[in-house]
Amino acid sequence: MSRVYNFSAGPSCLPEEVLKECAAEMLDYNGTGQSVMEMSHRSKAFEPIIQDAEAMVRKLMKVPDNYKVLFLQGGGSTQFAMVAQNLGIHTGKAAYIETGVWAKKAAAEAKHLGIDVDIIASSKDKGYSYIPKVEKIEGDYDYAYICFNNTIMGTHYEYIPETGNIPLVADISSCVLSEPIDVSKFGILYAGAQKNLAPAGVTLVIIREDLITDTPRPGTPTMLTYKTHADADSMYNTPPCYTIYVLGKVLHWIEKNGGAEGMLKRNQEKAEYLYNFLDSSDFFRATAEKGSRSLMNVPFLTKYSTGSEDEAAKAKEKEINDKFVKEAAAAGLVNLKGHRLVGGMRASIYNAMTLDGVKALVEFMKKFAAEN
Ligand SMILES: *Cc1c(COP(=O)(O)O)cnc(C)c1O
Repeated sequence: MSRVYNFSAGPSCLPEEVLKECAAEMLDYNGTGQSVMEMSHRSKAFEPIIQDAEAMVRKLMKVPDNYKVLFLQGGGSTQFAMVAQNLGIHTGKAAYIETGVWAKKAAAEAKHLGIDVDIIASSKDKGYSYIPKVEKIEGDYDYAYICFNNTIMGTHYEYIPETGNIPLVADISSCVLSEPIDVSKFGILYAGAQKNLAPAGVTLVIIREDLITDTPRPGTPTMLTYKTHADADSMYNTPPCYTIYVLGKVLHWIEKNGGAEGMLKRNQEKAEYLYNFLDSSDFFRATAEKGSRSLMNVPFLTKYSTGSEDEAAKAKEKEINDKFVKEAAAAGLVNLKGHRLVGGMRASIYNAMTLDGVKALVEFMKKFAAEN
């Protein structure tokens, strides 16, 4: 068996220990003679699995008692709509900070659903390479919205805006449990699981109880109403059982490795190693500005990315990027192709990525720089 170092932005690598446990239990979970994939979600065997996953989220994220923890489907993208439909019910106005693709999509969805969207700050002026400083958000908004870690742009908030009585909503899809976070500062936190928690299929939602309304915006489907799922403990309909089972195992792995604090230490060590190399290289450079850099997603360019519109220069840039991605894959370092909006390469170094993986990447980059 030969495993690669997988730098995918999502779905992404999972801890090897967890995969091995899943494999060992595949045909017979806990003496039931069945795989968790085959079980009724209402069975005696499955019930403790979902209860344990919730208890572990509460423990690791120190979720206060007045918050519900939900396991939903539809990915982060469905939350763009659910947030708007369930919170945009008083003034119908919401404040969004625009920090890249995912924040823009969330704002566009709210607008599409009839919310009066105010883009109160944006980092568009510099290609979303930084997080704008918005210390305080005021106004008659039903909610304020931020994307806490920008997976594509490689940026991350180093502060939490003060919003007073305005519920703050944050998309933490690509940084959930990569660091401690003060849940009490937020109205809703949500994360698609496939970046840092589990395979694709489940979305973790943490919502303050007073925001769970039975009067969402008119026309809101039952399935898109938080109350439906909160009242049924995420069992209104069939939940993604197997994904929740893997999620539980990942959460125990996080606990064993020091919890959220342990993850932060591990992630800082990896990210520093990579950024230090990028900042000292005259061949590669990071695209995100210091002070806004993500510990999870690291986009980078080569010296051949000059911004020139010259056809020959653009062809050379593409040739080098393609060569990098191809040769890295041959060396067992996969999924390093950058997002087309940023160009170049991107290394996603989520919780499950090891320091050894990052060191192997940097060694490869040194060699590539010397040869090109
Ligand atoms: C991946 C991602 C999404 C979209 O998630 P889906 O589960 O594919 O809908 C939304 N927000 C952020 C920050 C992401 O990284």
